[in-house]
Amino acid sequence: MQRRDLFLHLTRFAAALAWQQVFSAGAHAQSQADEAWASEDDPFSLGVASGEPLPDAIVLWTRLAPRPLQADGGMPQAAVPVHWEVAADARFTQVVRQGVVVAEPAVAHSVHVLVEGLAPGRTYHYRFEAGGQRSPVGRTRTAPDPAEPVRQLRMALASCQHYEHGYFTSHREIAASDVDLVLFVGDYIYTTQAPHHIKVRSHAIEMDPHPGGRTLADYRIHHASYKLDDDLRACHAAHPWLMVWDDHEVMSDYTGDTAPGVDDQRAFIAARAAAYKAYFEHMPVSPRRVPFEASMPMQGRYRWGQLADLWTLDTRQHRDAALCSEWPRALMHGKLLWRCDAIQGDQRTFLGRQQEDWLAAGLAGSDANWRFVVQTTQLAPWPIRSPLGPLTYAEGWDAFPAARARMMEAIAQPRVQDVVFLGGDVHRHVAANLRLDPLDRTSPIIASEVVTTSVTSKGMSEVANAWVRAGNPDVLHMRSDQRGHVMLDVTPREVRCVYRGTPHPVRPQSKLRTQATYVIERGKPGLKKA
Ligand code: FE
Ligand code: CA
Repeated sequence: MQRRDLFLHLTRFAAALAWQQVFSAGAHAQSQADEAWASEDDPFSLGVASGEPLPDAIVLWTRLAPRPLQADGGMPQAAVPVHWEVAADARFTQVVRQGVVVAEPAVAHSVHVLVEGLAPGRTYHYRFEAGGQRSPVGRTRTAPDPAEPVRQLRMALASCQHYEHGYFTSHREIAASDVDLVLFVGDYIYTTQAPHHIKVRSHAIEMDPHPGGRTLADYRIHHASYKLDDDLRACHAAHPWLMVWDDHEVMSDYTGDTAPGVDDQRAFIAARAAAYKAYFEHMPVSPRRVPFEASMPMQGRYRWGQLADLWTLDTRQHRDAALCSEWPRALMHGKLLWRCDAIQGDQRTFLGRQQEDWLAAGLAGSDANWRFVVQTTQLAPWPIRSPLGPLTYAEGWDAFPAARARMMEAIAQPRVQDVVFLGGDVHRHVAANLRLDPLDRTSPIIASEVVTTSVTSKGMSEVANAWVRAGNPDVLHMRSDQRGHVMLDVTPREVRCVYRGTPHPVRPQSKLRTQATYVIERGKPGLKKA
């Protein structure tokens, strides 16, 4: 533990140094930057985005890429100045903040501007200018004052958007909706190819399935190709996002420092470093998250007035390695475990002990009306009763029972009430009650869980869905046949959860409908059908 902590501190320190070097190199380069650099192609092809709202600050993102599917984005190997401005109105007659930042080739000419000195609870408009061209206008919002008795918070919860499995209709709908925040809980890109019979469109490039064959350029081009989707860009431009990642941003089913079926661990770590770097370069995340080699600090805490505290968790980077990965203990490429007793180990961790302790302390000290734990996957157990006997999903909390028990213990404290878990990953809409001892029907219900289906990624079969539902009666709702997202309306009295969906696959003209509505009343853990 101590060695690991020391290592973490050293990596943070090194990351800070690396960032400073980027900045000082930037300052130097700025004086040399070709002020006359101009682009005939639109350098803002990947759009604009914002994220991580605080009461007085917001992060703005863009990346200059006039030829987005080229390894260098069509940019020169030189620093380019980017002018940014934030206004109180959409016409930019009242500019409240502006500045110049340098887009560096070392970070693919991406910029992450932390704009400070803003007013709490306000809508702002922002745009960039570079190479004689202006970006589209983005809209964003700061968090309210932490002491303000906020009456309403509206959030969209989304995850899992395999580009080849369907169209991003959810993003089109969310972009047009009046939400304060978009919570994206992982699988933003997929580096796997869809089988031919379910493919509705194609990735710009094929990623090598082996980590040794993947380069930073591959990950950059892949990210850029996702951002070329009109609906995804519109959703980023419309609202601030909070980001959580899962496995597919790097490689299917990876856990911490390892990935299933990968013998060359050094090659995997190198691929993880490239994936994290490309992720940083394409997401509206704080500049303090700049990765150093294969590490990137992802967890976060946010507050929406007195109404809500939110924690965004990293369940991948610090997770213990998968167990029982050999046949016959592992089935379906290691996704399902059969008779694997080793997962019961009480030291096993899903979040890393540091993040666990940080979350427990934060929850215990929170005085908000609601506590939202925003993480990747489903916390509620889903034991699979198959004809072979019980199977366990290797990728989720079920394969880390001791870590889940510690989590439940942390939220069972008398001060820690009105906890709602928000997740994704499992490609199905889920509403579930969470008990202190998750599989003991006599144990008290202490929290609620809302899991969103995928934006596009294919779900389980109805047969598998039935096996899973039978295993846990506290799962009130579970449907894997539709793609979509969840809208959450939070007031001091209740959280209203509207599950939106459309049949698989999502077609260009698909429309979403409400599949189900559940309500969580404050002071009464658990969900009720509305
Ligand atoms: Fe997924
Ligand atoms: Ca996943």
